[in-house]
Amino acid sequence: MPRASEKMASMWHSRYRCAVTLSVDFDAETLWSGTFGLTTPSPMSRGDYDVRAALPRIHALLDRHEIPATFMVPAQVADEHPDACAEIAQRGRHEVGYHGYHHESVLDISLDAERELMKRGIARLEQTFDATPRGNRSPPFALGPHTAELLEEFRFVYDSSLFGHDEPYRPRVPVSGGPLREFVELPVSWELDDAPYFLFSFFPYMSGLSTPSQVLEIWKAEFDGSYRAGGCFLLVVHPFCIGRHPRIAMLDELIAYMKSFDDVWFATHLDVAGEWRRRRIEAGTWDEQDAAAGPAPAATAR
Ligand SMILES: [Zn+2]
Repeated sequence: MPRASEKMASMWHSRYRCAVTLSVDFDAETLWSGTFGLTTPSPMSRGDYDVRAALPRIHALLDRHEIPATFMVPAQVADEHPDACAEIAQRGRHEVGYHGYHHESVLDISLDAERELMKRGIARLEQTFDATPRGNRSPPFALGPHTAELLEEFRFVYDSSLFGHDEPYRPRVPVSGGPLREFVELPVSWELDDAPYFLFSFFPYMSGLSTPSQVLEIWKAEFDGSYRAGGCFLLVVHPFCIGRHPRIAMLDELIAYMKSFDDVWFATHLDVAGEWRRRRIEAGTWDEQDAAAGPAPAATAR
């Protein structure tokens, strides 16, 4: 039976059993132009849907629940959609993270080219949102061979592009035998991304036309697991995927379910990464080699 002080130390901010953190990857047209190389009107209009149809619904949902989110915004989207970015900034409770300049892949570019894009991209986001991005998500969940060096150089607090755990951890990059990095990893997963379920495309073929009820079942079960483990539930959504009426209603139901627990902490990625790091330092385990993801609480079933 853990002592009360041990139990408190194992909780987020000494009082929350589980952290919930939502990403909105606001790619707009750059997903189609930057990742798929499609610049004709119809694919580009799928990016346009983000701004016209989906973001107002996402804002209405987050506002109604009064919860923060982390918006991952390619710098080109800040160039092209200043009004939509102002809508995010004016809420005052959301975080904005770095997500490439053009939603470009960083797998095959040189260190210097990636540094130049990151420098320009950070400056563009600072100008638009009046805050320096402290988190990175390399598109599309693909950290490049040089990105970790640059994240340290630009003093990022966290990355969210790797898959090495289902709880925050301190990553090694290269993954096999590389050094422990100075930033926290908030790992992603395809299970907790709306795109595999909801992104349909003929070219390249992607089959995502799942029913919202199937996805709700998976996401609720994932949350239940994170809750039991005293961990962190990180969900990634894309406006053009989640923004359709039945899907936004499903996300509403999921948020209401998670809010029904009185010891769940809704926070931005940056706040979760900062708190996780603080707890590790306090426990004296930040510098531990290959330490497990913990600290985990004494699990009790609910
Ligand atoms: Zn993206």
